[in-house]
Amino acid sequence: MPEDKTGDTGTADRMTQARRRTAEAGLDALLISPGSDLRYLTGYDALPLERLTCLVLPAEGDPVLVVPALERPAAEQSPVGSIGVQIESWNETDDPYALVASLLPDARRIAVDNHMWAEKVLRLRAVMPDGQQKLAGDVLKELRMRKSSAELQALRDAGAAIDRVHARIPEWLRAGRTERAVGADIAEAIRAEGHATVDFVIVGSGPNGASPHHELSDREIRAGDPVVVDIGGTTAAGYCSDSTRTYVVGEPPEDFLAYYEVLERAQAASVDAVRPGVTCAAVDAAARDIITDAGYGERFLHRTGHGIGLETHEDPYIVAGNDLPLEPGMVFSVEPGIYFAGQHGARIEDIVACTADGVEPFNLRSHELVIIDA
Ligand code: ZN
Ligand code: ZN
Repeated sequence: MPEDKTGDTGTADRMTQARRRTAEAGLDALLISPGSDLRYLTGYDALPLERLTCLVLPAEGDPVLVVPALERPAAEQSPVGSIGVQIESWNETDDPYALVASLLPDARRIAVDNHMWAEKVLRLRAVMPDGQQKLAGDVLKELRMRKSSAELQALRDAGAAIDRVHARIPEWLRAGRTERAVGADIAEAIRAEGHATVDFVIVGSGPNGASPHHELSDREIRAGDPVVVDIGGTTAAGYCSDSTRTYVVGEPPEDFLAYYEVLERAQAASVDAVRPGVTCAAVDAAARDIITDAGYGERFLHRTGHGIGLETHEDPYIVAGNDLPLEPGMVFSVEPGIYFAGQHGARIEDIVACTADGVEPFNLRSHELVIIDA
């Protein structure tokens, strides 16, 4: 079957491609539990419960969705009901693990969902003692990191939604307010601007901006603070947003202005480097070289970016050592940062897509420093 990398492929087609790749990887079956892989393959956004829900996807043969009886109506109402996947439900006193094993009598090499709960992985091992367990993510990432045109549009929409939230930050960021109070306003706006859930709200003021994964604290924002605001949510379509801008309340510190200018150039250089055939490592190096040459190399503590889609962090990772060449349809963040522990920090983050001949940013807010009246 010809591979359509950017076309709009439905879930039935994804299932066909997943089975082909499963066979090519020498695997007999994939076992997929609730989460982004199940949603990707079937459209079913199942609840993660202690009771076993599991898509059994053999390389040869028909897929079966095993669900607890009480989840059957939800599964039937989901897209699973319309894509021809057989649903097998189990009752409270049945053994769903034995049911899965009975569907795969000859399977020896079985790949489980990367996010499957350990208790389920071990119970599957117990009912299939001769089976070797591998990771399904190694197969599915090859599909998931090459977005269809519908997925690209969903990520473009998510990017526009989070841009609208960044546009409103000056309404809330003020000296004397706590990070937590500002964060509550931002979270409300993330929902109001078109997300179904708020995934994270980072408001890193002053020294907290130097900790890349600081979230919110009761620290009061002061005049002269740079503030790193990194926010994201998931839209109703299931796709994630993630964008960072750095703001300053009042007069910016001199040393901060010096490195913010370097950061702007570094982030732009990585975005400019994006096109088909360029490796993930080269995109990382484009920003890192500029930051290192300016003397801040030790202050850039993390990789330049991560893929994004149904999950905020997924393949491909924009990091040294990743020699994967970019292809049209790959979507990821470009988010270099410079951090001075105990003082302040800055990060600029856009989601971008690799296109047939270059790059399309999904976050379009200016990178110029936004200075807000204290
Ligand atoms: Zn982020
Ligand atoms: Zn990110």
